[in-house]
Order: sequence, then C-alpha cells, then structure tokens
Amino acid sequence: MFTKILIANRGEIALRVIRACREMGIASVAVHSTADSDAMHVRMADESICIGPASSTDSYLNKAAIISACEITGAQAVHPGYGFLSENEAFAQALEDHDITFIGPSAEHIRIMGDKITAKETAKALGIPVVPGSEGGVATYEDAIIAAESIGFPVIIKATAGGGGRGMKVAKNAKDLEVAFRTARSESKAAFGNDEVYIEKYLQKPRHIEIQVFGDGKGNAVHLGERDCSLQRRHQKVFEEAPGPAITPELRAKIGKICAEAVAKINYIGAGTVEFLYEDGEFFFIEMNTRLQVEHPVTEAIFGVDLVREQIRVAAGLGMSFTQDELEINGHAIEVRINAEKLPNFSPCPGKVRTFHAPGGLGVRMDSALYGGYSIPPYYDSLIGKLIVHGRDRPEALARLHRALGELIIDGIDTTVPLFHALLAEPDVQNGDYNIHWLEKWLDAKFGKN
Ligand code: ADP
Repeated sequence: MFTKILIANRGEIALRVIRACREMGIASVAVHSTADSDAMHVRMADESICIGPASSTDSYLNKAAIISACEITGAQAVHPGYGFLSENEAFAQALEDHDITFIGPSAEHIRIMGDKITAKETAKALGIPVVPGSEGGVATYEDAIIAAESIGFPVIIKATAGGGGRGMKVAKNAKDLEVAFRTARSESKAAFGNDEVYIEKYLQKPRHIEIQVFGDGKGNAVHLGERDCSLQRRHQKVFEEAPGPAITPELRAKIGKICAEAVAKINYIGAGTVEFLYEDGEFFFIEMNTRLQVEHPVTEAIFGVDLVREQIRVAAGLGMSFTQDELEINGHAIEVRINAEKLPNFSPCPGKVRTFHAPGGLGVRMDSALYGGYSIPPYYDSLIGKLIVHGRDRPEALARLHRALGELIIDGIDTTVPLFHALLAEPDVQNGDYNIHWLEKWLDAKFGKN
C-alpha cells in the first residue's frame, strides 16, 4: 500500500480524498495555487505545496509542477479527483513514466473514452446500446444533412472533444441544421481547440441514467447500480439520486451486467461511469467518464461503500473489497449541488463567506470545503458544497433533504440553496416524475427565458 498520496485537486473533492487517506493511514499532500493558500484542503492535508499562480492552467493543470511536487514530497501516487487532470491521458502517461501511480484507469482507457466518437465506437463494440447517430465525425454541411435525414429530425450536434455540457446544438429541421452545424463547430473550436462534431438523434423526453462501474484491472468488474441525474440546467447536473425512480430491479440488473461485462473485457481499473439516456424502457449510451463523479456519494450511501478507498486499493494492486453478490441497495439517497451562484441567472457569485453552518443528524452528509471567514476565489468552478441525504426510502430522503437544507447556513454570498427549497415543493420532484428537460422548462416558466 502507498504511504503518501498527492491530491491534484482542490475544494470539496480534495477533502474527500484526504479523508479516505486518513482512514487508511496514508499521508496526504495537498497542492494549491497562490489563490488557494488559505483553502481548507491545504489546512486539512498532512503536507502542502504551492504549484503556481491562480490561473488553473498554471497550477491545477500544470503537469510538470504536479510531478515535481510528487518528487519533492515523496508521494507515490496521485489522486486526480474530478475535472482538472482527471481525464487527461498525457498526465496519466507522464506519471507512469515517472513511476508514480495514477489513481485511475490507464492512459489508453482514458484515450478511448475521452474522444466521444471513439468512446461510442468502443461502447458499441463492447455490446453497449448507443444513441442512433452519424458514423463518426461529420465534416461538411452536406454530410450533416445526409446524416440527419437518415437518423430523422430532431438531431443534436455534439463536439467530439466536448465536455461539461458544452458544444451541443439541437436542430429541429434542415433549416436549423445549417446554423446549428456551423455554430457547434466554431464553439467547439474555441472551447476545445478541435472543431470535429458528430450528430445524434435528439431524444425528446429521456432521463439521464448513469451506471457506476468498478474494475480491478485484472478482468473483474462490478456495477453499483444507477444514478438518475435528469435534473439539469444547460446540460449540467444539479440534483442527483440513487436508485433512479424509473428503474426497476430487472432493468438495473440487465444494464448493470452489460456495463460491468464491458469494462471487465478491457481490464478496466478503478471507478468509471457509463452514461445513458433512458427513454421508454431503452438505454442509449452517450459517454463514459473514466473517473470519480461529483455525484458518487449517493451511490456510496445506498451501497455503504467508500469508492475512494476502493480506488486507492485497486491502484495499489489489492483488488476490490466486495463482489457483485455482496453489493446490495439499502434505501434511497439524494445529492444537491450547492453553487456560489445568484438566481435566477445562475451568475457566479464568489466572495467572502461570513458564516457557514453545515447541517447534521441522521443520514446527512455535507461535503464542502467552506468555513466561516473563507473568501471563495473567482478563478475556479462555482461548486462550493454537496449536501447528500440518505433515508430508508425516497419520501424519507426527501423529508431529510428538506430538514437539512433548513439547517444549512451560508451567509455572505448567494447560493443555489433557494432553488432546492423551491424544487422540493414541486409535485413532479416529489414524485420523481421528470426528464432532462424538466428543470429548464420549470425555470423558464418561473423566471422567464434567460
Ligand atoms: P458532456 O460530456 O458535455 O456532459 P454528454 O454527452 O454527457 O455531454 O451530455 C450531457 C447532457 O446533454 C445529457 O445528460 C443530456 O441532458 C443532453 N444530451 C446529450 N445527448 C443528447 C441526445 N442525443 N438527446 C437529448 N439530449 C442529449
């Protein structure tokens, strides 16, 4: 087992990893930018090291500085968290070249799942059902028309290199397609430095259902059920739950088995998420994330496992501590993402937090790097905390969420907490009756288009 792990991240996810390390008796090293000298992850880790200026390109994305930090501190492994370098093939490779363990899949697996077209082809070859779409990239408008007509309108144009809900455009007909195709390409070029796009059937009322998989790198893999992450704004998740209100044990067992077998076949190591759109009893693969997800705690809650601990175990060659038969669902869990954003436009709202009081009690988990007096820097993601609740069933989890949100105090900045108070009062949310378009429609109705 490792004796020291460096965490190449910040915020709540850095704390999450530090906590797992501490329980395993492993020393932790925090890295930070100059803007994060006072951040909680720096305070909580056993050691810390500054890796560059505020801009993430020069710090949290600075591979050379992070590798030097490992060498200086003697860390044998790196946990990348999510975002930043967590799905960066060159980083995984560079660590391997320096004999440092990347706590995540191989550079090759990151590569095949990183580019969305390759990911779809790989998924298809592994027996996973995919969204009907173009065969590979579409280079010209003429090709786009041919592809869209054979798939059938409406279609969605997606950036091959896309991520974070960006680089997607919907076209309802051939006329829309011309503008959508050109804007998707130019936006993709600007955001990802690559203008390749592909076309998919645009599903009208799907749910976003993702399957948590876990492999030991030796041909064994399990699934830990699904998460329903359909409540999204601009393709970004805001509320996630497990198990999915629309998924039966039979559906779960069937799609879970397909996913676990697929990743076992490629000797996948560590945590992964296979994302699907689900409509009328059918699953359609959209992408695979080769890392820990923001919403992993809902899965941890219902299965009673520590996914970060497992990631560290398999990275050290120890294998998983559970088998598929031992994994049993217990109750229901919900996570809400608390962002430093001002409603109704969700404009970023960094600044000084005067008071922070985290809710507690039975079945409540608050993952946050906030503290009273902390100044949220303006340079990074606006996620400042995740509130996760667990109950014996969905109604109990909802009641607990309501209770916990009432206890939470974040004073001094605007946050997305009022959104969740409002959502909990909605019958559709209470009944779990929503799809990926529900939240946008609700926001439009409540606040008007923005
Ligand atoms: P990203 O990597 O940017 O998160 P994804 O491919 O995972 O992109 O898609 C994000 C979200 O966009 C999905 O959860 C869904 O809401 C929407 N979306 C993606 N593909 C389709 C599609 N074919 N039809 C309808 N909605 C889609």
